[in-house]
Amino acid sequence: MLFQHEVGRGYAGCVDLELLEQTLADRGEPSFRARQVWGWAARGAGGYAEMTNVPAALRDTLAAEVPFSSLSLAEEARSADGTVKALFRTADGHPVEAVLMRYRDGRRSVCVSSQSGCPLTCTFCATGAMQFGRNLKPWEILDQVLHFRRLEPVDHLVFMGMGEPLLNVDHVLAAARLLPELGITHRRTTISTVGWLPALRRFVDEVEEPIRLALSLHAADPGLRSRLMPVNDRYPLPDVLAECRRYFELRHRKVFVEYVLLGGVNDSPQHARELAALLDPKIFKVNLIPYNPTGRYEGSSRDTIAPFKHVLDRARVPATVRLTRGRDIAAACGQLAATRRHITA
Ligand code: SAH
Repeated sequence: MLFQHEVGRGYAGCVDLELLEQTLADRGEPSFRARQVWGWAARGAGGYAEMTNVPAALRDTLAAEVPFSSLSLAEEARSADGTVKALFRTADGHPVEAVLMRYRDGRRSVCVSSQSGCPLTCTFCATGAMQFGRNLKPWEILDQVLHFRRLEPVDHLVFMGMGEPLLNVDHVLAAARLLPELGITHRRTTISTVGWLPALRRFVDEVEEPIRLALSLHAADPGLRSRLMPVNDRYPLPDVLAECRRYFELRHRKVFVEYVLLGGVNDSPQHARELAALLDPKIFKVNLIPYNPTGRYEGSSRDTIAPFKHVLDRARVPATVRLTRGRDIAAACGQLAATRRHITA
């Protein structure tokens, strides 16, 4: 299929590409048309009507036959801090969430989903409690970005929404490879994973683009990590960390470690010492994430987070506490879809 080659070469995207290319081919349109339509969408066009170098009759045909976005907006929530969270549905009714975070320094970061729901069952994550739907197509990932791109330019992207990106690695990479056309460079694109080893190995070996890697760690102790993230029994942390080291050696880029602080569970100074002992400061950079409570656990207090970070500072493991964004709009992974089950089919 044309689309397969096109994605490989970075030539397509936006609306349902297979449908777009088929529709253009059926009409005997020249092959540059798909590229032309995609270019408009990537730059934030609001619809086919704006594509002034595409013949008007063809624009009408496309508008009638190829939906401009593969996602329809079900709900949008705006936080007092400028964060915007969108809940979409795919054409076949699956919920998909994405968040736009606006920072004071001007950065505009989009957090996208790679799957509808998630087959993994991390015990603190709202998405893990939902039913798994399916992998998203590359254009369903890009359409999350384009939704916000139509509001304003965006320059950073993290695969930290619903789903495990490395369980959908081909579609995630196909989408990631097209992001520069939307204004997001590879260096500003981060794939976050629980450490799904087979695809992580491929990511380290095969991906030439300087896309960043983040590892969800959450506990240094194997028993505790398995309780929080059952996937730890399947792919033990030492093997996963070895891949992260290989990534660093090949790319000379640090790996982010995400550590969600759960009150009374993984947030003591002893837990911090175990974490510091595990991580080589040359390779890893820790992001401490205040937990956005979604039911089972509580967040850690500020009085707990500061001493935890202090332990890492003293061990010279680089660590930052992530700014909490969008708490008032349920912006944590899976939260909006989980509280809106009635509209998620
Ligand atoms: N499956 C991938 C990407 C999705 S989750 C992964 O686990 O890395 C992105 C990040 O959000 C993960 O680090 C996850 O642990 C974190 N997260 C999930 N639920 C959260 C919550 N309620 N509050 C804060 N962070 C949360």
